[in-house]
Amino acid sequence: MASISKKSIIILATLSLLLIGLAALFLKRDPKDSFVRNVSPEVVSASKLQTKKLPVFVYHYVEINQDKKDTTRDSLNINPYVFEQQMLTLQKAGYKFIWPSELDQFMEDTSDQKYVMITFDDGYATFYNQTYHFIKKNNLKVVNYLIYNKLGYLNYMTKDQVRDILKDGLVEFGSHTLDHPDLVYISRDEARRQIIDSKTLLEKEFGIKINSFCYPYGYYVPELIPFVEEAGYTNATTTKEGTILNRDRFFEIKRFRPGYLTGQDLLDKINKDSN
Ligand SMILES: [Zn+2]
Repeated sequence: MASISKKSIIILATLSLLLIGLAALFLKRDPKDSFVRNVSPEVVSASKLQTKKLPVFVYHYVEINQDKKDTTRDSLNINPYVFEQQMLTLQKAGYKFIWPSELDQFMEDTSDQKYVMITFDDGYATFYNQTYHFIKKNNLKVVNYLIYNKLGYLNYMTKDQVRDILKDGLVEFGSHTLDHPDLVYISRDEARRQIIDSKTLLEKEFGIKINSFCYPYGYYVPELIPFVEEAGYTNATTTKEGTILNRDRFFEIKRFRPGYLTGQDLLDKINKDSN
């Protein structure tokens, strides 16, 4: 008898522990649930989100590379078919394409709408010759970061091509400095000039407002951010990897490299990322 009651005590104790564990799990989940239930829609819409998911895709060349010996170009390249599949994947999945100038409105939107931003670095001629027709055909909003002093040079878009693209209103242009130096390793005065003068010259040349800046090679240090703010940009993109936009980090926007992923694989990679 004594051994049976000892056994019962052990079973009872185990059951109690299990019940306590289950209760703890339930309580742990409950505050979040009750928060969602109790907050009125007015309060939710008035609250400001600090962070929000925004995959910012980074592209350079989208082409069939003719010169396989040019390994740099090859490493920066995405096959046009893959690029098109990636864009169609996003469109089919209900993503809304936005420009950098729309980031404030984006942060205000507390609905379930999914957003994406498509960025092209360097203003290459292939953008005009090979990529733009697809962008136009599918009515995609994208941003292209121009290097002011490279406009019209071999491999880069001409000023007339930029003007031609501007007519359609689908591409927002940003600045990628005057000469594409690594801003981290040049003098601060020169970095400031590269950041400020490129904005002034692009605005004067094309009669547009330049809102967005992109650090060459994505490299930056915190000391550069005041120059970007002083110039009057409202945001800047880096090559730090991630898909979460922070309201306080508009001058350090992380970007997403889609690689060769398309379809569900691409959507899964975006969804899984928590940086
Ligand atoms: Zn670049």
